[in-house]
Amino acid sequence: MARPVGGKDYPRTRQEFRAFFPDDDHCVAFLTRLRWPDGFRCPACLGEGWRSARGRWTCRGCGRQTSLTAGTIFEGTRKPLLDWFEVAWRVTTAKNGVSALAVSSEWGMSREAGWTWLHKFRRAMVRPDRDLLTGEVEADETFLGGAEDGVRGRQTVRKAIVLVMVEKKAGGGYGRARLVSVKDFSAASLHPAVQANVTSGATVITDFHKGYLGLDRKGYTHKRINIRASGQTGSDLLPGVHLVASLLDRVWLGTHHGALRRRHLDAYLDEFVFRFNRRGSKARGLLFYRLLEGAVSTAPQPFSAIRGGRS
Ligand SMILES: [Zn+2]
Repeated sequence: MARPVGGKDYPRTRQEFRAFFPDDDHCVAFLTRLRWPDGFRCPACLGEGWRSARGRWTCRGCGRQTSLTAGTIFEGTRKPLLDWFEVAWRVTTAKNGVSALAVSSEWGMSREAGWTWLHKFRRAMVRPDRDLLTGEVEADETFLGGAEDGVRGRQTVRKAIVLVMVEKKAGGGYGRARLVSVKDFSAASLHPAVQANVTSGATVITDFHKGYLGLDRKGYTHKRINIRASGQTGSDLLPGVHLVASLLDRVWLGTHHGALRRRHLDAYLDEFVFRFNRRGSKARGLLFYRLLEGAVSTAPQPFSAIRGGRS
């Protein structure tokens, strides 16, 4: 599809949101266009079909019935799509996201359900085909939950190590970022994290930490900055990483009050990156559009799968 146009393909403001989605039927129509931009295709045989009921289609070829939400993160929901759309709007327009508590109290659901909805949307924020970072990339680790010192009491409050990678733009400023939690500072943890997020052939800029040694043998140009010898601080020499790390800290403490579960950390990091990488986009509505686009192309996320070992 051509680049979506604000006001025509997606709402740009709250007023436009209301005009776009006065009721659930309009949400169904919107989602139908997103899912099948060239018309309905049967997921089983790719045949064409006809609309047999609200949000339901029947394949002309094999006769199979398909619901609009089947095979998406909305599969099996009993709530109106409009509720989902409203939460998606809030997720994408609130500067630092929204907490599970706010969703549960404002949309009248259990805390657990609010939590699950947000996680479903987080899964939809990761596009499997998203491009790796390129060009010059700063990389450094940061601690999350820095205010808490080590393990205190239960498992929930722990420092986590996050590897921050951010593209430097040629003319100054920064491009896209990627964040991933790592187990420790060893090369065995750091190298695969870099390789999964930075394209081969790129320049990776790090400090002198030995865990980064050897990146030059893995297809990267490795530029090392000796922070100690320079007499400057890490934030002067890897400013992009430190910019991202301080934003991350703010979101962590502000929106989630520093109380995230460690095993869901990567989902939160993906949400942060989703927002950060689109920070230049003036139209928040475009984020909303991208999120719903992700939602219809992301397989269902049953609660049990998301919850995992929610501690
Ligand atoms: Zn079919």
